[in-house]
Amino acid sequence: MREHSDIVIAGGGPVGTTLALLLADSDCSIQLLEARADLARPAHRRTLALSYGSRLILERLGVWSGIGEVTPITTIHISQRGGLGMAWLRATEEKLPALGYVVDYAELDAALHARLRDSAVAVVSGARVDEVRVASGYAMLKASRAGVVTPVTARLAVVADGGAATTQRVSRDYDQHALIASVTTELPHNGCAHERFTPDGPAALLPQGAGFALVWTAGPARVQALLALPDAEFLRALQQHFGDRVGRFLSVAQRASFPLGLRYAAQVTRPHTVLIGNAAQMLHPVAGQGFNLGLRDAWELAARIRTSTREALGGAAMLAAYTSARRLDTRGGIFFTDLLVRLFSNDNALLHHGRSVGLAALQALPPVKRFVARRMIFGARG
Ligand SMILES: Cc1cc2nc3c(=O)[nH]c(=O)nc-3n(C[C@H](O)[C@H](O)[C@H](O)COP(=O)(O)OP(=O)(O)OC[C@H]3O[C@@H](n4cnc5c(N)ncnc54)[C@H](O)[C@@H]3O)c2cc1C
Repeated sequence: MREHSDIVIAGGGPVGTTLALLLADSDCSIQLLEARADLARPAHRRTLALSYGSRLILERLGVWSGIGEVTPITTIHISQRGGLGMAWLRATEEKLPALGYVVDYAELDAALHARLRDSAVAVVSGARVDEVRVASGYAMLKASRAGVVTPVTARLAVVADGGAATTQRVSRDYDQHALIASVTTELPHNGCAHERFTPDGPAALLPQGAGFALVWTAGPARVQALLALPDAEFLRALQQHFGDRVGRFLSVAQRASFPLGLRYAAQVTRPHTVLIGNAAQMLHPVAGQGFNLGLRDAWELAARIRTSTREALGGAAMLAAYTSARRLDTRGGIFFTDLLVRLFSNDNALLHHGRSVGLAALQALPPVKRFVARRMIFGARG
């Protein structure tokens, strides 16, 4: 481990590694400290829907072609259980080849780390950052590796630990867990993702390979019960929940669950320190926005670092410029997902009717649909 670098990134998940790659050819010395001792073991098991905008960033880094299986989403169908209104977002309407892409978190992580191995970035695995504090003109980190604690200084410490540090404050507990699984169905997906709102919480089917990745949100007790069901009973419950839009559900594999909440840092910067990705904001996965937002954090921070002198790195002016550039996109992402979860996860009769009207309006008003689609694909600046 180096005792000093211009930039130290704490956390080598997809957001931290993306930032490291974006800066790999800059004049700054960069060290990435990752807690996992074995980088071949991903920090999480989940499927990610990446927006077309995220693809453009990963393509520019030469990572896109290294991701194993990529399934394009060409249509998104949005519906409400027991309601009439529904909407379709289509890539052709946006004049894009796809609205987004479904990838495996582990494959994306592996592709990013493979690219990083060929770069000038110093990657230290098995290095856990336990503390980040401000010293005069620097950030001072304490990192432990194999039981040895090493103090490390940096002009700028970037915390990309996925929210593992206690810097976040809990803003909202949704009292929902996400059950994830791979499922196969009678009908082919034809690139169509399904987002279905139910009083228990939203459920999504993302096209992945020949089947779908399922994200089913419900109360914690219900999710535990669903996890414990034998496959055949689980498939029956899923059929009842989702309806027959994709025909019969035929098989299920790899069920797992996560608690869901909204957490975000009141301030994403401190002197010589910045939080990005899930360390800055952890969203409900309802609209598949978390990683996409984190990737845009990395993109913007890299741009600020590149235009900063070494002396100004981590200084007040640079950090204020970063915060102000990211504010609208971050707040928009938090507001949008939070609103979706709260408006759609209940069985209030009045809201039920309002939602049907809202979905019908979304379908009937192309400019509104276009506004929503562009924000989901490219962020607040559309
Ligand atoms: C069920 C579910 C589905 C989701 N679906 C989507 C989706 O479809 N689309 C989307 O955009 N987002 C989705 N997300 C969100 C997405 O997973 C996150 O936004 C993304 O993983 C954040 O990346 P990150 O690099 O910031 O954090 P992480 O992926 O959590 O990576 C953090 C890294 O930091 C390391 N680390 C932790 N602590 C330390 C430490 N102290 N020192 C050093 N290293 C440390 C970890 O080992 C890990 O490698 C979903 C989330 C869930 C729960």
